[in-house]
Amino acid sequence: MELFLYNSLTRKKEVFKPSRPPETGLYTCGPTVYNYAHIGNLRTYIFEDILKRVLTYNGYKVKHVMNITDVGHLTGDRDMGEDKLEKGAQREGKSAWDIAGYYTQAFKKDINRLNILEPSIWCKATDTIGEQIELIQTLESKGYTYTINDGVYFDTSRFENYAKLSHQDLEALQEGARVEKNLSKRNPADFALWKFSPSGVQRQMEWQSPWGVGFPGWHIECSAMSMMYLNDMLDIHCGGTDHIDVHHTNEIAQSEAATGKPFFSFWMHGAFLIITGGKKMAKSEGNFLTLESAFLNKGIDPLAYRYATFQTHYRKPMEYSGKVATAAQNGLFHLRNQVRTLMDAGEPAAIDSKFQKRFHETINNDLNMPRAMAVVQDLLKSNLNAGAKLATVFEFDRILGLDLSELAKKQDLPEDIQKLVQARKDARKAKNWALSDELRDKILALGYQVQDTAQGMKVIKP
Ligand code: AMP
Ligand code: ZN
Repeated sequence: MELFLYNSLTRKKEVFKPSRPPETGLYTCGPTVYNYAHIGNLRTYIFEDILKRVLTYNGYKVKHVMNITDVGHLTGDRDMGEDKLEKGAQREGKSAWDIAGYYTQAFKKDINRLNILEPSIWCKATDTIGEQIELIQTLESKGYTYTINDGVYFDTSRFENYAKLSHQDLEALQEGARVEKNLSKRNPADFALWKFSPSGVQRQMEWQSPWGVGFPGWHIECSAMSMMYLNDMLDIHCGGTDHIDVHHTNEIAQSEAATGKPFFSFWMHGAFLIITGGKKMAKSEGNFLTLESAFLNKGIDPLAYRYATFQTHYRKPMEYSGKVATAAQNGLFHLRNQVRTLMDAGEPAAIDSKFQKRFHETINNDLNMPRAMAVVQDLLKSNLNAGAKLATVFEFDRILGLDLSELAKKQDLPEDIQKLVQARKDARKAKNWALSDELRDKILALGYQVQDTAQGMKVIKP
């Protein structure tokens, strides 16, 4: 079955084919780790997770690389302002390295809570400074760079077709140049490859380079890392729509200038999460909600957020309010109840091929999750027998990632058992084995059996 994906480069839905099937290279721009991810960022990561699951469903073997921006992303995307990491360090009175470490862990925790599959390769900007310097040297030797007082810049006028992704009007950008503070740049769109540490200031994160002590510009890391890890598998590159005009446009320019070859065949972008009234959710707007503040602290299952994002196609802005969270929680609970009723009626049997085909066609149509959710409901309302429905909905859950089989079972536990199970988890965390065994016996006396598996604790009614 053909997989259609919308390619921002051609602005069309195209049939996807990787360059070395079944291997597929996927690069997704990762977080700048100076603060918690907000649920807008997380919407983009959920869209990318669905993409990856759909690729896998279609038989592709996905090599997924995600970077962690732990240096060099300034508060203004066009190389002005402070380094976000150093700013975070000042705010919290910690070192920039500690800030990066802390928020990287927080990010990983968030994506695990959302059942977002981890990338095959995580890579930090600060671990690839050498590769980034080499890439800038290549650009320098080909005549694409120039140096001014605060850094080494890429001359966008030397790269033909600079606006091929963004389709932006460079003359309009030229007119808007008055607002740009850096008047030494040759063209307003030019961007920093290497920034110098300000004189007399010792930055926490800085490195020697052929041009002087400093740090890399934000865009160069993604070019260096994707080429380093994906090499001849530059198939799909993703991010949010805000990356089109600057970050991805600059990545393409510097990579293609350096290698003379096309840099990624598919570019895919997730639309914004906006708050009621149309404003985008952004850390800089101070209107941002995290998974913790909007879901966990309100006692709402974080997977309800995953479920909520399925209601809007990834290329359409999604409006968020507290009502969305409660509606999604109700929707998710209803779905789990439906699955639980089926589980009470029997075991999973054979997958229904007609529904599977419908579902597959729907996700292969540029990841149409709102329609896919409608197929799930049609299946559950159909007159198929319980076993076929169960098997088919579990098959769909390979894409949905809602842990339907696990969670439906878990909710069946009476409250007193759930409490004992939690107490046993805490005891094991504290390595209190005696208490853990005692609780196991208590649970058994109430008619439930505990099993410790590689995936964690399982409770079953024998
Ligand atoms: P950042 O940590 O700022 O580099 O952003 C991480 C990812 O989130 C990028 O792919 C951004 O394009 C994306 N992003 C930023 N704001 C939003 C938003 N309000 N809705 C959806 N995605 C966003
Ligand atoms: Zn990037």
